[in-house]
This record gives sequence, C-alpha cells and structure tokens, in this order.
Amino acid sequence: MTDVFDRASEREQELRDDALQDQRRRAGLAGKTYTDSARECHVCDEPIPDARRRAIPGVQTCVDCQAEVERALP
Ligand SMILES: [Zn+2]
Repeated sequence: MTDVFDRASEREQELRDDALQDQRRRAGLAGKTYTDSARECHVCDEPIPDARRRAIPGVQTCVDCQAEVERALP
C-alpha cells in the first residue's frame, strides 16, 4: 500500500518541479545561474541582496520592483 502513496508523492513533486520550471521559463530565467543575477536592480538601481540573487538565479530586480512588475501583469 505504501507503494501507491510513494508514487503519488513522487508525482506530486514532479508536478511541482514542472510548475516551477514553467514559471522560470515564462520569467525568462530558465538556465540562469546565480552569477547571472544582477547586483543592482535594473529598475531602481538598489543593490539586490545576495540571498535573493541566490534564491532566484538570473534575477534582475529587487523585491519591491518585482512586486510592481507582477502587479502590472495581466
Ligand atoms: Zn528595484
């Protein structure tokens, strides 16, 4: 019986990974690494914290500007 649950949670993990990759592709961040992350926000020129640059490889904006960008999206 545990097999079924194992497979279910494996599948769930796959779906989560897929969704994450999809999101990164849409954001144009697919294949980016930590070193592609901008040191300063491209919108307001504020420094981007190292933790954020590592957490979102290829990130180009600070948290505040990202929130603005996401609000502007449909
Ligand atoms: Zn900014």
